[in-house]
Amino acid sequence: EAKANGGARVCGYDPNMQSRVTERLDVENELRRAIAQEGEILLHYQPIVRLTDGQIAGFESLMRWRHPGRGFVSPAEFIPLAEETGLIVELGQRALILGCRTLAEWHRRYGDEIWLSINVSARQLAERVVVDQVKQALQMSGVRPGALKIELTESVAMANPETAIATLEEIAELGVKISIDDFGTGHSSLAYIHRLPFDLLKIDRFFTSRLAESRQGMEIVETIATLGHNLGREMVAEGIERKDQIAALRTLPITYGQGYYFGRPMPEEMVRELLDRQYGLLEVARKA
Ligand code: C2E
Ligand code: MG
Ligand code: MG
Ligand code: MG
Repeated sequence: EAKANGGARVCGYDPNMQSRVTERLDVENELRRAIAQEGEILLHYQPIVRLTDGQIAGFESLMRWRHPGRGFVSPAEFIPLAEETGLIVELGQRALILGCRTLAEWHRRYGDEIWLSINVSARQLAERVVVDQVKQALQMSGVRPGALKIELTESVAMANPETAIATLEEIAELGVKISIDDFGTGHSSLAYIHRLPFDLLKIDRFFTSRLAESRQGMEIVETIATLGHNLGREMVAEGIERKDQIAALRTLPITYGQGYYFGRPMPEEMVRELLDRQYGLLEVARKA
């Protein structure tokens, strides 16, 4: 299938295109190989912090490909390809299984308040496989469903709202929470937003970055926050990089923040260090 696909795209007179296609196939094959491998596809975790007291409330998992020759390959590079080839369905399943396993481990160690948000793709949602994948991951890990959030972008939710609503309702019935990612960058229809069963609204980094810069930037975030608040949803401001952004956000009904200012996506061992500190387990950790 991959070959036929690539072949169809080669026009025969553009050598650059030929090499692009070859490169694409290489990456695709490499990705297939990586998926079959143990430990090459893994998750990093970025803290999501309560803005009032700076405590970590949860994490978002972000997929990483640790390529043996090329080092870490960015998801921006391989997620779109995985999406096109359908490999994303398997990657998405991997993320759910690994993420829930880690979350269960955190719960054993720190109590089960901490939550984890796991990104799912358009394809997982459209093909409805995500419901079975979530069930399987919950079953394997035994994790409390309410501590798991399924994160999908606004554009994915709105691409086919009726399917999205039906699928998300099934997920919600499991007790799992739903989080709308990159809010404000897609084309949200206000006719649908109130029908989407979501718990958390993530305001895109685009808005956070303009927040403290102009009156206008602030007004836009205020407007989104008012919408979320009136819908009775909790909110996360994404992409917080500076302290002045936090001060501005604290005047709004936005509970959580996420961004490099609080912490970059990090491997599991670093999460443990952070949580050991937060939960006062440093001594225990040293003895363990
Ligand atoms: P996203 O879900 O919107 O994730 C947020 C991205 O913004 C992450 O990039 C994160 O590292 C980055 N980020 C966080 N805070 C800051 C900040 O303060 N400043 C800046 N400049 N960037 C910040 P990352 O890890 O490269 O992931 C990119 C995208 O890849 C994600 O965007 C998501 O759409 C996709 N992705 C990652 N993991 C998965 C996954 O497991 N499944 C699926 N379907 N997509 C994934
Ligand atoms: Mg996300
Ligand atoms: Mg996001
Ligand atoms: Mg994004």
